[in-house]
Amino acid sequence: MNFRGELRWDEPLARHTSWRVGGPARRLFRPADAADLAAFLRGLDPTEPVLWLGLGSNLLVSDAGFSGTVIQTQGCLNNLERIGEQGVRAESGVSCAKIARFAARLGLTGMEFLAGIPGTLGGALAMNAGAYGGETWGWVQRVFTIDRRGEIRERPPADFRIGYRRVQGAPGEWFLEAKLELKPGDTLASLERIRDLLERRGHAQPIGFPSCGSVFRNPPGDYAARLIEAAGLKGLRVGDAQVSEKHANFIVNIGTANAWDIARLIDQVQSEVARISGVHLTPEVCRVGGWEP
Ligand SMILES: Cc1cc2nc3c(=O)[nH]c(=O)nc-3n(C[C@H](O)[C@H](O)[C@H](O)COP(=O)(O)OP(=O)(O)OC[C@H]3O[C@@H](n4cnc5c(N)ncnc54)[C@H](O)[C@@H]3O)c2cc1C
Repeated sequence: MNFRGELRWDEPLARHTSWRVGGPARRLFRPADAADLAAFLRGLDPTEPVLWLGLGSNLLVSDAGFSGTVIQTQGCLNNLERIGEQGVRAESGVSCAKIARFAARLGLTGMEFLAGIPGTLGGALAMNAGAYGGETWGWVQRVFTIDRRGEIRERPPADFRIGYRRVQGAPGEWFLEAKLELKPGDTLASLERIRDLLERRGHAQPIGFPSCGSVFRNPPGDYAARLIEAAGLKGLRVGDAQVSEKHANFIVNIGTANAWDIARLIDQVQSEVARISGVHLTPEVCRVGGWEP
């Protein structure tokens, strides 16, 4: 195989997920740049399972790990630049917080909501990450995708079905970069809004314990946190996995929880809420790896 990036074997994914759980990846690749990634993908066995990893802030990786190749974007696909009057071009490994501040400093508005989302642009595109009324795809002008043959395509948002924390595009393509089209704004006002949103997060969310943010999608017309709290599940524990006392839709790792503890707690919350309120909550968090006992 011909590549310039770094290939690690048996890399513990607990080091790369915000819950701090997950077994090893058979291989983890850190590309030198997009061309290097394309060369690496072209050389991959067509049957090799592939997982893309940003900051691991929405991933529950099993304790058995991932028996395939993980492509890590964070710290690798890191280019960020202004294009034209109101545009920003970012590669998928750039953090959401960096994009929010970069846009604000350019006097462009729209991206402030990204400041408190602890993921990469790639993860935000895959999840249509959003907060405080803003959603990632509301600002996307074009994306560039790459497939496992290393082929790169430019696509407009119209090529994707986009919903609440849901994005469906061409199967077998991943996000390499995006062009965002923002609005003219005011640097000081945007930085002030970022400060305000981060403060609101600090009041509403558990800080200091590993988590994955909201575990369940909000059902239409309601809030998952309200339903979980109404079911009396705040504080419920499996091992060191606990339904947060501060925000019921967060599950926090208060010590040495493993992926099984978290998965079992998710299942318990789901079935208790269904029993008590009749609402079936759908997890927002992506489960990865083998879950056989
Ligand atoms: C404290 C906390 C607060 C949070 N608050 C919010 C919030 O307000 N709003 C919100 O929407 N989310 C929130 N989240 C969840 C999470 O930060 C977002 O879903 C984020 O977009 C995930 O980005 P990531 O880079 O960490 O993705 P990862 O967790 O690494 O990956 C998530 C999914 O995206 C896929 N993926 C990653 N990169 C790519 C790529 N380049 N191409 C294709 N697929 C890719 C992965 O394979 C996986 O399926 C929060 C999480 C935490 C821990």
